Amino acid sequence: MFTRNNQLAVVLGVTMCVGLGIQTVHAHDNDRFEINDRFGNNERPGRNKTPKNVILFIGDGMGISEVTLTRYYQYGVKGRMNLDKLKYTGFQTTWSLKPGAGPDYASDYTPDSASTGTMWATGRKTIDERISQGPSTALNVPGKNYQTILEVFKAQGKRVGNVTTAEITDATPAVLDSHISLRSCQAPKNMTSCPTERKAVGGPGSIAEQTVDHRVDVLLGGGKGRFDGTGGLIEGGPDTGRTVLDSAQRQGYKIISTKSELDALPWRNLPVLGLFTPGNMTTEWTGPVATLGDGVPAHACTTDNRPSNEPSLAAMTKKAIDLLDHSPHGFFLQVEGASIDKQDHAANACAQLGETVAFDEAIGVALSFLERNPDTLIIVTADHSHTSQIVGEDTSGNGNPTGYSDNLITREGQVMRVTYGTAGGVDRPLASQLSQQHTGAAVPIWAEGPGAEAILGTTDHTDLFWILQGK
Ligand code: MG
Ligand code: ZN
Repeated sequence: MFTRNNQLAVVLGVTMCVGLGIQTVHAHDNDRFEINDRFGNNERPGRNKTPKNVILFIGDGMGISEVTLTRYYQYGVKGRMNLDKLKYTGFQTTWSLKPGAGPDYASDYTPDSASTGTMWATGRKTIDERISQGPSTALNVPGKNYQTILEVFKAQGKRVGNVTTAEITDATPAVLDSHISLRSCQAPKNMTSCPTERKAVGGPGSIAEQTVDHRVDVLLGGGKGRFDGTGGLIEGGPDTGRTVLDSAQRQGYKIISTKSELDALPWRNLPVLGLFTPGNMTTEWTGPVATLGDGVPAHACTTDNRPSNEPSLAAMTKKAIDLLDHSPHGFFLQVEGASIDKQDHAANACAQLGETVAFDEAIGVALSFLERNPDTLIIVTADHSHTSQIVGEDTSGNGNPTGYSDNLITREGQVMRVTYGTAGGVDRPLASQLSQQHTGAAVPIWAEGPGAEAILGTTDHTDLFWILQGK
């Protein structure tokens, strides 16, 4: 869709518009929405360096605070994580849109994972809850479908993969291989809120159906309950009356559900659909939910929570790369550490930190691959910031933080207090009664490989769509 001729158009667009001091609209960008040129993105270093392989790591809700907490707890103040080894670092803004009449939509400063995912998946802004569709007047009014980065790379002949610790139908993986008005429409039986998008009326169906129909080479994660009988039956097309899992089988997917089946899989077996749990995958670590006042008395985390029949994120990443790395055109792989966000919502510091460690270990797998395959671009970022903070212990007499706290004993033998304070308060004594909220701060982004310099400075999530392509 976008060729070398378009790069010439970009140059012309910049030349024509820079002197006028207006927001640049490129000749070939007429159908794009709100491209962010505020940071001079079209003259960034690293453009026009096209990587063969692209690996995108998304730590859901993994803002600066979540990274720092994990670094201090697990590796010590002088410690460095795998993501710290990546050569370039920058920031990305994450704002989304509010529903409206358009064409100008109001800004939403605290986006969700659907709108943010749509930004790098399609290069365009949209409203929360929406999966790779444009904004509209209301949540339940479908928007225009936008081509995704997975579709772009697939059309180029690359192999494509999608790996997550959430359900594979959750928002972050879904933005790559489905287009739907609401993120909750995950399985055939979840389509009540998306009536016009059902297969029964000629629509593309639920996220599970669209994911399978996209023929993604490697799909690994949780969410089997969206694909088997508990997810309902397909109501249109050649697989009417079947489960989505049956449809996947008919369409040639190798279906697996345990770590040992994953380990045993030969690389020729593509496409593969690995669904290891009915819902989200089990967290690596566990611990108490934060409490008000002084918080949970100081403790260390329990680090052996994941059952042995579930693969780690690092194991899924390793296998996905092994499976995908057999094409002259290279591959695109997205890897999501999903439950950093989910456990941040739950105010469970140990579970949250364990997921961040697991995410970082998966990055280590990609860094090893990069050593042997320098034509690979690795990008690591978060979709949005989140609530957890490192705060002072109550030794000054100034009182406690107003939120829910946990006190973790670090490797250095010190107590690090973690507080969750974006939902709840004194009238709600238990953090388990509610869900902590996302925050609006820009997120960090790290990169290495061909074109990685393009992430330097401050860019927007929509820029990532182009950076991934070396454009
Ligand atoms: Mg997610
Ligand atoms: Zn969230």
